[in-house]
Amino acid sequence: MADERKRILTGIRPTGALHLGHYAGALENWIKLQEEYECFFLIADYQVSDYADDIDTVRAAVYEIALDWLAVGLDPERSHFVIESLIPEHAELTLWLSWYIGLGRLQRNPTLKAEMAELEKNRSESVPVAFFTYPIMQVANILMPKAHLVPVGEDQLPHIEMTREVARKFNRLFGEVFPEPEALVGRVPRLVGLDGNAKMSKSLNNAIYLKDDADTVTKKVMSMYTDPTRLRATDPGHVEGNPVFMYHDAFNPDTAEVDDLKERYVKGAVGDVEVKQKLAAALNTMLDPIRERRAEYASRPDAVREALAKGTEHTRKVAAETMTEVRSALKLNYLE
Ligand code: ATP
Ligand code: MG
Repeated sequence: MADERKRILTGIRPTGALHLGHYAGALENWIKLQEEYECFFLIADYQVSDYADDIDTVRAAVYEIALDWLAVGLDPERSHFVIESLIPEHAELTLWLSWYIGLGRLQRNPTLKAEMAELEKNRSESVPVAFFTYPIMQVANILMPKAHLVPVGEDQLPHIEMTREVARKFNRLFGEVFPEPEALVGRVPRLVGLDGNAKMSKSLNNAIYLKDDADTVTKKVMSMYTDPTRLRATDPGHVEGNPVFMYHDAFNPDTAEVDDLKERYVKGAVGDVEVKQKLAAALNTMLDPIRERRAEYASRPDAVREALAKGTEHTRKVAAETMTEVRSALKLNYLE
């Protein structure tokens, strides 16, 4: 029987294993939503042109991400795990849609602008053309299965807005083909990095990974950026804007403990070490079951491969159906 549930499309770039930002910003929502929606979880390996000289990292990350997904409880029986480039229809739709997106529209995209600036700082060559156009491919990814909902971190909102505009424009010009998808931002819209940088990110090397062992997590937490104005444990500290407390708020379920730490911190009655030790303990408690499931799947690489193969194969059929409609809407049937 055909699946009648509304659809979700969301994705991740295969640039490394997944971190706490992905968990609180995106994955948590995905896990819940897979009950109610037919979900397409995409590994966006067409969209990593900034890793062009590091293809081995990308190839390894495809498998790492699938493992992380299984570890946090995404279910390949209910949802589709998809490798983007094995469905070349994505490239075709990207090209057609790029007819309907102005250059200025992309140049003004604030997320793209910030990412390009960051990239330009770190390389001698100019940014690849494919990087500049990756948001168009994201539009194609979302429209391909005609998704209704796109659960993402806050940084992705400009891309979803563009998707809505493109869907409207396409439908106006060629007839109703695509639903206008809604964005859904997670519990923590943008988790700061360990270094206090605005976003925890694979590329910025400021992340705690879901697969980090307990010692690594503790070491990373102990080295976290805190309140730079506080030199001694007896100095009154700042809780606002302090990454250690942001993580407590995001991940420590013991709110009484967090309130007590905050109260003592502003009075100068607790050291950073204790605040950090309690955070590390809370994180490790949360990550333990994820690590266990990850290890279990890591011992069964065939099951991981099978999850990717099954989801990709199914999604390719969905893509073929959409492309038949798109080609007919665009009057490409020259030879019929
Ligand atoms: P990269 O630095 O390679 O771009 P990334 O860590 O930004 O990696 P993406 O694959 O670009 O990860 O993002 C995947 C999803 O996770 C997106 O929905 C994004 O919004 C969300 N996300 C990533 N980092 C964070 C974060 N720090 N806080 C909240 N959500 C995040
Ligand atoms: Mg990113």
